[in-house]
Amino acid sequence: MKPEALLHPTPEGLYCPSGDFHVDPVRPVSRALITHGHSDHARPGHEKVLATRQTLDIMRIRLGPDFCHSEQAIAFGQSLDVNGVTVSFHPAGHVLGSAQIAIEKEGTRIVVSGDYKRSSDPTCAPFVPVACDVFITEATFALPVFHHPDPMREIGRLITSLSQFPDRSHLVGAYALGKAQRVISLIRRAGYDEPVYIHGALARLSEYYTSEGIPLGEIRPATDDAMAADGFRGKVVIGPPSAFNDRWARRFHDPLSIFASGWMMIRQRAKQRGVELPLVISDHCDWPELTATIREIAPEQVWVTHGREEALVRWCELNGIAARPLHLVGYEDEGD
Ligand SMILES: [Zn+2]
Repeated sequence: MKPEALLHPTPEGLYCPSGDFHVDPVRPVSRALITHGHSDHARPGHEKVLATRQTLDIMRIRLGPDFCHSEQAIAFGQSLDVNGVTVSFHPAGHVLGSAQIAIEKEGTRIVVSGDYKRSSDPTCAPFVPVACDVFITEATFALPVFHHPDPMREIGRLITSLSQFPDRSHLVGAYALGKAQRVISLIRRAGYDEPVYIHGALARLSEYYTSEGIPLGEIRPATDDAMAADGFRGKVVIGPPSAFNDRWARRFHDPLSIFASGWMMIRQRAKQRGVELPLVISDHCDWPELTATIREIAPEQVWVTHGREEALVRWCELNGIAARPLHLVGYEDEGD
């Protein structure tokens, strides 16, 4: 079967006509297969949703109990027949529950990676390479300039700052799903065992991570009155990046602004946001991870989506792999 006949882009997102399903559709559809819980991939209003149990749980937490009409959970590695098309989900290493989706019919297999990374992350199952004819890759950081450093080294800079500025509150901007919990988990790995204070927007997801066996240590709400009186001096406070421009942030004494994101590679971005301590911690592949993954999987074709498509397409062509951009719209990842 020709890959283009098995799966192709539509305004709703990637569509499989034989199976009559969409992957991560941006508009309500009758049957959606969802890679992970970030808001640009997991939207409400679909009739049927097939995803990992953790992604379904995360969608329920974020979107409410009526996020779809009927849901079905699929385990990693399990195969399922959907209208004559075999689908299976495999770890993507992006956030808790995140999956690549393999779609197979008549000997042709396409893997939709969703968002993924290869660097170590104690909060989710690591990426598993899946052999395929067509590998659909994201391209968020697909320029040779993007090299993400070791996340433990970045966390080490936060720990150093806490000892250098014991009087300042340390406000860490981190996206609510995945990044915030990863940062907390990395702080614990670095040996920091004081309570971490969080914005309310992170509470339910952080509780969920803990309930799924990911230890985050002692977490307290950043509304703690006793602490507020002292302005959270010398404490780590984590919140969604938007909260720090808010009234919410006024309670903190001499705040030191920190942001954990792959975009912090770009000094200009950090400067524009007024970030004093940029931490380059990304839940996406950098350029070496993208190219190493494509080499490892060695597919016949690579289709590139959401991000810097042209550079990666060019790299594939130079390395003898047929490639094309998909030009999907509507995926601006909330969890970079
Ligand atoms: Zn994502």
